[in-house]
Amino acid sequence: MSIKLNQISEVIKQQIQNYGSKVIKSEEGVVLSIGDGVATVSGLEDVMNGELLMFPGGVAGMAMNLEESAVGVVIMGDTSKIVQGDKVKRTKEVVKTVVGDALLGRVVNGIGHPIDGLGEINATKTLPVERIATGVMSRKSVDQPMETGIVSIDALIPIGKGQRELIIGDRQTGKTTIAVDAIINQKGKNVKCVYVAIGQKESTVTQIVERLRKAEALEYTVIVTASASESAPIQYITPYTGVTIAEEWMFSGQDVLIVYDDLSKHAQAYRTLSLLLRRPPGREAYPGDVFYLHSRLLERSARVTQEFGGGSITALPIIETLAGDISAYIPTNVISITDGQIFLSEKLFNSNIRPAVDTGLSVSRVGSSAQIKAMKQVASTLKLELAQYYELQAFSKFGSDLDENTRAILSQGEKIVEILRQPEGKTLDQVIQTFVLMAINERLVKWIPVEKVETLKLAIIKFFRKDPTGIKIADEVRASNSFNDSTKQAAITEIKKLVKKIITSIPDYNPLEFGKIEDYDKF
Ligand code: ATP
Ligand code: MG
Repeated sequence: MSIKLNQISEVIKQQIQNYGSKVIKSEEGVVLSIGDGVATVSGLEDVMNGELLMFPGGVAGMAMNLEESAVGVVIMGDTSKIVQGDKVKRTKEVVKTVVGDALLGRVVNGIGHPIDGLGEINATKTLPVERIATGVMSRKSVDQPMETGIVSIDALIPIGKGQRELIIGDRQTGKTTIAVDAIINQKGKNVKCVYVAIGQKESTVTQIVERLRKAEALEYTVIVTASASESAPIQYITPYTGVTIAEEWMFSGQDVLIVYDDLSKHAQAYRTLSLLLRRPPGREAYPGDVFYLHSRLLERSARVTQEFGGGSITALPIIETLAGDISAYIPTNVISITDGQIFLSEKLFNSNIRPAVDTGLSVSRVGSSAQIKAMKQVASTLKLELAQYYELQAFSKFGSDLDENTRAILSQGEKIVEILRQPEGKTLDQVIQTFVLMAINERLVKWIPVEKVETLKLAIIKFFRKDPTGIKIADEVRASNSFNDSTKQAAITEIKKLVKKIITSIPDYNPLEFGKIEDYDKF
């Protein structure tokens, strides 16, 4: 980006001419230099940070570096038409996006313009994409579940409405699938969803839109996307556009789920932008304010008090790691901003344990206050049992003569892992999840071999969804979101029957290993 000498002398001449005279606030500037998507413009003393500027031919730019003699402008369109000496006009507007219900079911670009070929969006309201997050006094504590429908998350790492929970893992470990399943699970729950795609392949985004459409989830979802082929400034703005759309709903009293897929690529776009603007690079060549880039975005998720509308924004940002390294710069930053993380392990994923949630490294800082009571009743010891299992599993590889207690822990752990496996798109509602987990909690699974656990799980799901007796018990639990003595006993009795059916269907059932059938009846 070289500034021609004659241009500099031109600027100096002007300054000498105007010396001593009143400052003339200019609405028009001149391009001093242009290159790599960044223009240096002189003569715009009064421009705002983030202001939109118009170049000839309708190309837009955004003022980013405000310096004394010139302004660094990132170009958001075709830079090839812009040449040195071009006039640049102020718009006195910052970047804005349309907001409101007209966006539902639509796919828009990083500044809220439709790209799905379905015509204009009939929205009347627009809002600036950069806004200060709502303050402390407007916030309420997080104590309502945001159900993902994924058992390993809802039972072990519960997410609350208004929370920010990071999904982190290597490439191809099921990150997007968890987020999309969580969106699909909001069907009929009166939650609006925003899926923000940053720097992804267009074909990937198309597939996600199709999945949402098939699951009838598009009706309550808007997709905001800046694909990998978009310029760095557009990718940079995209998540702010997404959260602005979400905020409009939150402040009108609605619950929103927003997914940022993913913030690693967002940070990279910002790094590109900053390097082009010649801002000093720091660690991993990211600029010094990359922390603020994500903190000001994620701070906009909240659950607000009635006075402020009473809605919420739950955020699921996604971060991609390299070889599971969560101590790299961007992962540590985002971990420290969020209220917990779902860590996906490549090792688990490759050994076909999917979703590949590493329950040891995953946490939710909201914890069980965002769970319904019924879930707490059946899932409270699950995490501990799993931890014991993983610890003993390492030892058990050495010795064969394990004591009975150890064997019991190992067998229970194996079966928990089996219960938590869940294919993509097969989300379960909370109450159905509690029946599945009851088989674990009441140790009913100890009677069957691990290969039959999936059969049992499917039988339980089917029974409580389809059988009149099952539906009745489920409805009773749903009415109070908890088990009382009678519903608990009724559920156990029915699950026992399902277990027995499986036992009796195994031709070479080994009573020495699992216990005698007569004993089972007394159990
Ligand atoms: P990327 O790093 O490319 O964005 P990702 O981490 O988002 O990948 P996904 O695209 O969600 O991962 O999933 C990768 C593959 O694993 C997909 O083919 C998906 O269908 C499959 N997959 C994800 N979750 C499950 C699951 N629970 N059961 C079975 N298959 C799954
Ligand atoms: Mg993905």
